[in-house]
Amino acid sequence: MQGNSKRFSGGCACGAVRFRARAEPLRVGLCHCLTCRRAHGAAFNPFVVFDAAAVEVTGSPRSWFSSPGYDRQFCDACGSRVIALNGDEVEISIGSLDEIGLLEPQYESWIVRREPWLSALDKPQHAHKRAP
Ligand SMILES: [Zn+2]
Ligand SMILES: [Zn+2]
Repeated sequence: MQGNSKRFSGGCACGAVRFRARAEPLRVGLCHCLTCRRAHGAAFNPFVVFDAAAVEVTGSPRSWFSSPGYDRQFCDACGSRVIALNGDEVEISIGSLDEIGLLEPQYESWIVRREPWLSALDKPQHAHKRAP
């Protein structure tokens, strides 16, 4: 990692939950899985993953464990999905960031559930979960 880490900030729709990350992303992806679709109420979820130690959260998000150890947190005031905690990693939806154009997905996962009207990105495609 270089000396000058990038900074990323964002939060929920009402502003009660905010986050800041000061690190290079570990990876950036786009997921079409059923849980992401339902959790976000959206056709897909573009996300960025950071080392948990690099992310600072303010406010009091509530938890929903979509699977053991995978904590999808949301704002209890506006219901926005904000971050997900998974071991020593934190996943943040790109749509929650304050700025656009900072990150671009490097791969797509669960493309078996991609809406037929969406075009594939010119990036690696995974039928289901991305191989570790
Ligand atoms: Zn909120
Ligand atoms: Zn997903």
